Amino acid sequence: MAKHRSAGRTKKTVLAVDTDKDNQIPAEFLERLGQIIPIAQLSSVLASFATEKAIAFRINTLADSRDSIVDEMIQLGIPLEPVDWFKDEHGAPLAFKTPSIHRKTLTHSDSINQGKIYLQNVSSMLAPWILDPRPGETVLDLAAAPGGKTTQLAQQMRNAGVLSAVESVRSRMYKLQANLKRCHVEIAKTYLTDGRTVGQKTPERFDRVLLDAPCSSEARFQADDPASWSTWSRRKLRETARKQVGLLKAAIHATKIGGEVLYCTCSFAPEENEQVVDKVLHKFSTAIELVPFELPISNVIPGLVQFADKEFDPQVADCRRVLPNDFMDGFFMAKFRKLNRSD
Ligand code: SAM
Repeated sequence: MAKHRSAGRTKKTVLAVDTDKDNQIPAEFLERLGQIIPIAQLSSVLASFATEKAIAFRINTLADSRDSIVDEMIQLGIPLEPVDWFKDEHGAPLAFKTPSIHRKTLTHSDSINQGKIYLQNVSSMLAPWILDPRPGETVLDLAAAPGGKTTQLAQQMRNAGVLSAVESVRSRMYKLQANLKRCHVEIAKTYLTDGRTVGQKTPERFDRVLLDAPCSSEARFQADDPASWSTWSRRKLRETARKQVGLLKAAIHATKIGGEVLYCTCSFAPEENEQVVDKVLHKFSTAIELVPFELPISNVIPGLVQFADKEFDPQVADCRRVLPNDFMDGFFMAKFRKLNRSD
């Protein structure tokens, strides 16, 4: 099968034309999407699995001034389209998207080696942006590698405060540490441990906690890349969801009263999203509340309050689902505030 990868164009895809059933995104996954995504957006969501997205990057102001990094991008001949909601205090854009044909120029550039830019999907940039950590705060990133969001948190904190980054997989920890160094992050301490133990070890320690949970990565499925979806099953979703609930409980325990937790995944599955949120709301009842928030984009829908035979707490509608488009991956976010002790 010929593959054609260019920004915004639909590739010849296993989604529709491959007759070999073993070489297709699982039919059950696609059927479930029909129950998750509103009918008006379903065809564009399905098309996104066969479309090469534009790439995006953040300007890392911990490495150099915004203007000189932008100049370097212009010198490299990179066309720059600003991400219009991600700006510095003067209103100047701090993130850009560009056609994917420029990926190699960016990944081989001195600018990236020196940590001046960080390639990151725009959906991912939203999570630290919504958590909104401030300089001087004590912040935890509970599933941190390779560090896209950790480096963004440090940038938003202006390298002031304490940033604890937890990762349980050694090889990924090395990548995280390399990225923190490359991106001039000075406030991070890294911990190689299971995040589920962190709530007991550091109860009520953090002002803000990010849990970018390990997930099925459904939103990253690519029709022409069987490795992206070949291990998908409902059984695996259930296993992953159990781990996510454990991590989210730890995140809540580790948060100070009055502090906030941002839970996110790049999965469409309600088992990994609304159902996880519903479980912790039920478990912690008076200790936490869901915080409503709005996103500065139009490709967004509320959390589902019902899926298949399951009904969730109506508050779960305050979660947000980002729908994929030509430059954004599908994404899920829930924001909590801690009101009382959680033990
Ligand atoms: N936040 C990262 C970023 O933006 O670059 C991506 C995080 S990725 C979605 C989830 C990470 O959680 C993976 O690196 C995975 O190895 C790690 N992980 C899996 N199980 C974990 C656990 N029990 N405790 C801590 N980290 C875990």
